[in-house]
Amino acid sequence: VEGTRLARTEFPAKATHAQTRAHNAALVLRALYDLGPISRADIARLTGLTRTSVGELVSDLEDEGLAIDVGRGPSTGGKQPTLVALNAGARTVITLDLGERTFTAALANLRGEIATRTSRDLDGRDGEQAIGVVHELIDEVRAAATSPILGIGVGTPGIVDQSGTIRWAVSLDWQDLPLARILQQRHELPTVVANDSRAAAFATYLFSGDERPANLVVIKVGRGIGAGLVLRDQLFGGDGEAAGEIGHVVIDPDGDACHCGRYGCLETVASAPAILRHTGATSLEALAEAAAAGDAEALGSVRAAGRALGGAIAHLVGVLDVRHITLVGTVTTLGEPWLDAVRDEATRRSLAATGRETTIVDGGTGEDVTLLGACALLLTRELGLTVHR
Ligand SMILES: [Zn+2]
Repeated sequence: VEGTRLARTEFPAKATHAQTRAHNAALVLRALYDLGPISRADIARLTGLTRTSVGELVSDLEDEGLAIDVGRGPSTGGKQPTLVALNAGARTVITLDLGERTFTAALANLRGEIATRTSRDLDGRDGEQAIGVVHELIDEVRAAATSPILGIGVGTPGIVDQSGTIRWAVSLDWQDLPLARILQQRHELPTVVANDSRAAAFATYLFSGDERPANLVVIKVGRGIGAGLVLRDQLFGGDGEAAGEIGHVVIDPDGDACHCGRYGCLETVASAPAILRHTGATSLEALAEAAAAGDAEALGSVRAAGRALGGAIAHLVGVLDVRHITLVGTVTTLGEPWLDAVRDEATRRSLAATGRETTIVDGGTGEDVTLLGACALLLTRELGLTVHR
């Protein structure tokens, strides 16, 4: 058991007498999760709990199926200790990515490994009908689960408050929709609902390995544009849980009408539908191919979309001084010319000192990143676990 890894996971201090057995059980579970397979003696040493209580708590977790004995570890003088590990398949999380055109549901284990997956095209359904699609998908994947369900994690477009109420999701025509409460009641499971860009940011943060930066921004660029912010190792929501809603910041007052009711929002220039509308291309792939083949007009449009996004990033960097920026979503299909334009414009419009230090990376279409983030948010809330990759 290495001390460095413990420091990185910010292992909590020993529970005080006022804290409950549940808290101690969570400590032991986290030790198994972060450091297992591990001996009971090491758990005791790392948590500060007595060996007797660790023994009892581990045996409770074994009764619940969450922990399993996995053989013997090396002896440190006496007899070889039995090692205990988390049983990642002991619980299942239902995780959903509510895209603006397609909803996807999947099952994940306690390590965030995704198994069963199913999608439905909305075909224009919104409002109540779109909620119906969510229920259908949950029922469908739930039927395939092979272990007890821990809960439901949902990533959705729009502004979502702490209680899991969607304040406003324009494209789905959802306003003040208490989605977490609705799903909790209908499916009788604990539920977390979060903005999709924020879920993506959380997953990107968790899965960035040993180089995990304390601050990062993930910008999802697809049908909509939104940023998820991790600041000082925490998801940042802002005063109204709308932090990172950069898609509806007006960048051209004389621009096109936006579905939010204003003109010239970033989304009217740099989102996937806007790019296709402006170029007449049938798909982003076709546009990327045309640009790569030397079609000057196609290349110009790709670069213009990239520059608009780069300008917005320059503002973010100017305010937050965050150096790690990851772009995910379908628009990343446009590849190098687009990414170069994003970077050039972000640098050109930033103070030399901050612009130089900023790294903007292509995180790909990010098909799973919202699912993983929603799953991780649920695990963090229900079990106090921080998913590692
Ligand atoms: Zn708008």
